Amino acid sequence: MSELVYEVRSRFETPALRERYLRWLREGHVQAVIRGGAIEGEVRIEPDGAVVSRYRFASAAAFAAYESGAAVALRAEGRALFSEGVAMERAVTERVMGLSRAPLEVVPVACLRDNYAYLLVDRDAREAVVVDPSEAAPVETALDELGLVPTQIWCTHHHFDHVGGNEAFVRAYPDLVVLGSRHDLEAARIPGQTRGLVDGDEVLFGARSFRAMAIPGHTLGALAFVGEGVAFTGDTLFSGGCGRVFEGTMSMMQGSLRRLASLPAGTRIFSGHEYTVRNLEFAAEVEPESAAIRARLETVRRLRAEDRPSVGAPLADELATNPFLRADEPAVRAFAARRGEAREPDDVFARVREAKDVF
Ligand code: ZN
Ligand code: FE
Repeated sequence: MSELVYEVRSRFETPALRERYLRWLREGHVQAVIRGGAIEGEVRIEPDGAVVSRYRFASAAAFAAYESGAAVALRAEGRALFSEGVAMERAVTERVMGLSRAPLEVVPVACLRDNYAYLLVDRDAREAVVVDPSEAAPVETALDELGLVPTQIWCTHHHFDHVGGNEAFVRAYPDLVVLGSRHDLEAARIPGQTRGLVDGDEVLFGARSFRAMAIPGHTLGALAFVGEGVAFTGDTLFSGGCGRVFEGTMSMMQGSLRRLASLPAGTRIFSGHEYTVRNLEFAAEVEPESAAIRARLETVRRLRAEDRPSVGAPLADELATNPFLRADEPAVRAFAARRGEAREPDDVFARVREAKDVF
């Protein structure tokens, strides 16, 4: 039987996490395997701090045993931290081996008056990323109900209604990784933030890879987290609308929306607020002839009447109904022109945004 060899490069979000992992290595926990016998292998530390593990398995079955068994053994040591270490190994392993995995789950959690926090769920590891915890209590309840431990917080921007729960979570889980933009890290305005991201940075959740996208306008540090067919857009792109322009300029916001609009049309959009009905009522004023807007408004009103979230629709729906992504449409241009200077797409966007501000 031919031998199966693979190499794993693990990077750790924080030095503390790496230190803990190295200690476990020294103490021999990493060699532990529940089923399938001991694994042969070596572990070395690269100068850049990465941990490189090289393992040999007699068969794919032995590898599978390691995958499940090691996770159990390692997790017994120190749950959140070590499982994170394992998740990082898996991330690389998966790329090498092409293993199958459960579909991604996104669970909206209603917070405050009309905010959404989101849980990004890994059922196998029983772990979750919390996106924009507006407040701790409802998010904790949702985590408990699903039996999940949070390992990361991702913040789209620093506004209180998106980070209000950070402190309580960091207190409860001191090793939590808290991500936001580098801009917000330098301004020290996201509580507990551990890493500052710039446009294009990769963010891992277990085997899943996401990308930070800089989308300034609503705030200068605004970020989207994009990957695996979903995008968390904070207060920049809403279902049927967009956020107010507080720190940036109109053309900055327009550019950010254009970037989001160029994602694959199937990307599901998860935004920071439940504003969809009001947004589409406005959209219907901008484009009174649009059957797409009327149909979507009806669908969303029905969802809301049943107290169900309207978020998570594909980008294609936004492209068809969201006036802030439709500055090239004659009806939108005409609406803007009735309100002032509207020759360029940037002007069209600005006029529509101004009209929405007083809607
Ligand atoms: Zn905001
Ligand atoms: Fe907000």
